[in-house]
Amino acid sequence: MPGSDVATREVLEPLVDGHGRPIGDVRISVIDRCNFRCQYCMPAEGLPWLDRSALLSYEEITRLVDLLVRMGVGDVRLTGGEPLVRRELWRLVAMLDAIPELDDLSLTTNGYLLERQVDELVAAGLRRVNVSLDSLVADRFFQMTRRDSLAQVLAGLEAAQRHEALRPIKVNVVALRDFTEDEVVRFAEFARTEPYEVRFIEFMPLDADRAWSRDRVLPNAEIVAMIDAVHPLEPLGRKVHSTARRYRFADGQGEIGFISPVSEPFCGDCNRIRITAEGMLRTCLFSINETDLRALLRDGATNEELETAIRDAVWRKELKHRIDDPAFIQPPRSMSRIGG
Ligand code: SAM
Ligand code: SF4
Repeated sequence: MPGSDVATREVLEPLVDGHGRPIGDVRISVIDRCNFRCQYCMPAEGLPWLDRSALLSYEEITRLVDLLVRMGVGDVRLTGGEPLVRRELWRLVAMLDAIPELDDLSLTTNGYLLERQVDELVAAGLRRVNVSLDSLVADRFFQMTRRDSLAQVLAGLEAAQRHEALRPIKVNVVALRDFTEDEVVRFAEFARTEPYEVRFIEFMPLDADRAWSRDRVLPNAEIVAMIDAVHPLEPLGRKVHSTARRYRFADGQGEIGFISPVSEPFCGDCNRIRITAEGMLRTCLFSINETDLRALLRDGATNEELETAIRDAVWRKELKHRIDDPAFIQPPRSMSRIGG
């Protein structure tokens, strides 16, 4: 693998954007396909999938991550589509885990295949996992994901929990107006009784059906109030570069988090970039422009050429998203084709 020999590893200048923000976190989509069809992400019939040959290979991903890590990007998260649908994902985890100076190696998954794969992923070096779970009631879970799989996802969470190496385990709940309200308190009780960190995420205009509208967003402030009325909360604030505002239950039994990109954007200290499954570098979830790293990789670019392309793109990283701007343009890619 180019550039990974410890003896010859060169530490590079930190990767910084044109607004002075150092980049420390990369989200890598390993596949655009998914076995679920969440209402807020994908159409019922799915999307036109990429050919296997279009996906970055594990060697290509590892080469990019190795370069990014040498530029100070310490946190790597694998996502998709559904990352566990990609064959032998554990092989990629092992390749990335072997990169020196990698601080964190995590996975975002819908949990359906987690029970089957978690042992080999942890053995390969996976350190953290986030599981998406939008309902704790089987028929409502079906309504949201169009799959009858709640039990399988809960089994995946339990299997992950058995691994001490995987901490913390986070549960992500996308909150939708006229759907999530009924379960807000149930999720709070789940956070109080189960060993998972539950975080509510506001619905963003990244759904393939383009059904997003502001009145479908359930602002996190409303959820906080609903929970606080039953189980009083105390704010813990937001750690730098973290997207979640955390609260603890006043009686000391557990914590809960809120990610509010719509009602309280946190773009000011965003330290994140993304690479899509076919190797497009994106500097914001809402980017309109992308940089084709796969073309460079497959045209025989040197590490220096790749580094220049990455630095140029990152320099132009968007200051903030413009969901509130009347001229806001929803990016052509929906969430599963970006890698959330
Ligand atoms: N399939 C995996 C999963 O669902 O965890 C990983 C990919 S999924 C695109 C990553 C995250 O994006 C999930 O937590 C999902 O709930 C979230 N997501 C998808 N569409 C969204 C939207 N329109 N607004 C907010 N979050 C969204
Ligand atoms: Fe699949 Fe994740 Fe999108 Fe749901 S949110 S359809 S699980 S990619």
